[in-house]
Amino acid sequence: MRNLWNSADAAGFPGDLAQRVYSSRLLGRDPSLVLHGGGNTSVKTVERNVFGEDEPILRVKGSGWDLATIEAAGFSPCRMGHLLRLAGLDSLPDLRMAAELRGCMTDPAAPAPSVEAILHAVLPARFVDHTHADALISVSNSPGGLERVRGIYGELAVVVPYVMPGFKLARLFAGLFPAAASEATIGVVLMNHGLISFGSTAEESYSRMITLVTRAEDYLAGRGAWEVRWPPAKATSRPVRIEFAAFRRDLSALMGAPAILSRHGDGPCMGFASGPDVARISQQGPATPDHVIRTKRVPLVGRDLAAYRSGYEAYFREWEDRAAPRPAMLDPAPRVVLDPEWGMVAVGRTAGDAAIVNDLYRHTMDVIMRSEALGGWEALAPGDIFDCEYWDLEQSKLRRAGPVPPFLGEVALVTGAASGIGRACVDSLLRRGAAVVGLDVNPAIAGMLVRPDFRGIACDLTREADVSSAIEEAVRAFGGLDMLVLNAGIFPGGKRIGELDSGLWRRIMAVNLDASFVMLRECHPLLRLAPRGGRVVVIGSKNVAAPGPGAAAYSASKAAVNQLMRVAALEWGQDHVRINTVHPNMVFDTALWTREILESRARHYGITVEAYRTNNLLRVEVTSRDVAEVAAELCGPLFAKTTGAQVPVDGGTERII
Ligand code: ZN
Repeated sequence: MRNLWNSADAAGFPGDLAQRVYSSRLLGRDPSLVLHGGGNTSVKTVERNVFGEDEPILRVKGSGWDLATIEAAGFSPCRMGHLLRLAGLDSLPDLRMAAELRGCMTDPAAPAPSVEAILHAVLPARFVDHTHADALISVSNSPGGLERVRGIYGELAVVVPYVMPGFKLARLFAGLFPAAASEATIGVVLMNHGLISFGSTAEESYSRMITLVTRAEDYLAGRGAWEVRWPPAKATSRPVRIEFAAFRRDLSALMGAPAILSRHGDGPCMGFASGPDVARISQQGPATPDHVIRTKRVPLVGRDLAAYRSGYEAYFREWEDRAAPRPAMLDPAPRVVLDPEWGMVAVGRTAGDAAIVNDLYRHTMDVIMRSEALGGWEALAPGDIFDCEYWDLEQSKLRRAGPVPPFLGEVALVTGAASGIGRACVDSLLRRGAAVVGLDVNPAIAGMLVRPDFRGIACDLTREADVSSAIEEAVRAFGGLDMLVLNAGIFPGGKRIGELDSGLWRRIMAVNLDASFVMLRECHPLLRLAPRGGRVVVIGSKNVAAPGPGAAAYSASKAAVNQLMRVAALEWGQDHVRINTVHPNMVFDTALWTREILESRARHYGITVEAYRTNNLLRVEVTSRDVAEVAAELCGPLFAKTTGAQVPVDGGTERII
């Protein structure tokens, strides 16, 4: 493992706390050391208190901060004296310990300190670094792991058998240190958990961590276990979206809420999921116990959710007595699915959760394959995993979770998503918690937003094969389809019937009408599998009820789409798929309204452009966001019993009323 310390960069971080920030970020940069908030670091300082006294303080990583991006404010200031007194107690419930850690901070507004704060305090060094290095886990979780680790490190590291993080582990450390550390000791191995290094400077502690990890990597490399050889696998090319969406519906029922499922079919995932040993090696447990909250103890191999449920219930019943008070069983839905045709499926309540599960399980696969190459993967015992899954500290965090956005776990697809009303619909749906797929003929859609809950796909809606593969990709990304917003449309400017050539007529019909029909036909089998029922919103036009001269093709296409919506409402009610239309008018912040069209329409009515903008009964300007918010609400609980309806968003139009 490369030592990333750079003296020139480090010089830009003067003082102990700034040095702590710099080297914590170096650790955070490598996902094989720490992932998604895992690992923690600290520095011991002396700070002047309000009485003018110098007081020893432990600055330790606060919860909610990631080492990769941590700043000085991410280190919670705890009074060393209080931490060391806590370390001397015979026992302390973890919830009480967490309260004591918060209570001994010199700044009550700082983040809650890491639960490993006491452990940091008792180690006799200024800087302490803690990671969950993949390489160490691979060695520690293989046959004879303890002897292997002792052989690798000798005097360099104190080896501590597995004890659950929290007060018990802190107490164990308080009994060991400082006596256990000899002159040669640079760190601690926590079996089945990770590594700790320490030193008198940030550079020393960081470099020692790299030394410790490199030793484990070299050990693996020396036994042909470092380079992972994935079993060969063949990728499937047939569309699987309907069966995958049906699986998502069933999994969501088990979870008790709509779930996001993302399918990963690259070489490692396909190889691991279809390998000959997958049922054995994947069913022993997670790489480290702190993954269990996200990944559950084991993945589902295959698609039998009923079998997974009974397996989870049996595991819960076997161990529930270990927790006091006896906890309520969490939902029995898997968070990782391994299927020879689908590859690795990451499951989460949100797209962000599923992305984290994907990262965690990729590292788990690496760790397992390396342990297998050493002679066999051996995870921690199920009871120890249960203790972490039902740890009262974690459960109390879950209970504190805030209000749930209405579309959390649901998937929406928006056509014409790169600009105007389509773009605004993307924002309105994301704000309500949905994962959103945006289709647009403009290739810029692919990079429009970089976040785990958005996927932009460039797609010409008039080509059926492109539409089909875009929908397949959408379902691969998020698992299914709950909402569809048909927004894409063109309005190529005013032409009277006498001047309208057949080519232009057909192009407008192809985009505005034919493509909408194809989208509806292709999405219906997915929408009927939506856990809470499918919803469709058609972005219509005021022209449906009140056409204008010079817009024959546009008005006819929008009227036809509206009629299509009404037929769909009749046909799909029995499938619990709702479909409604929004009729906007004069939404000027869209690509349809060029300056020329605006001026020509204003001239037509004999008024200024400014007067034309608010030329409606309410004298208000209608924006893309106004339309998008109504479209999103039509998908929500307020309109749960409405289908086949048409809602104007136009400021009131005399010709329609
Ligand atoms: Zn840890």
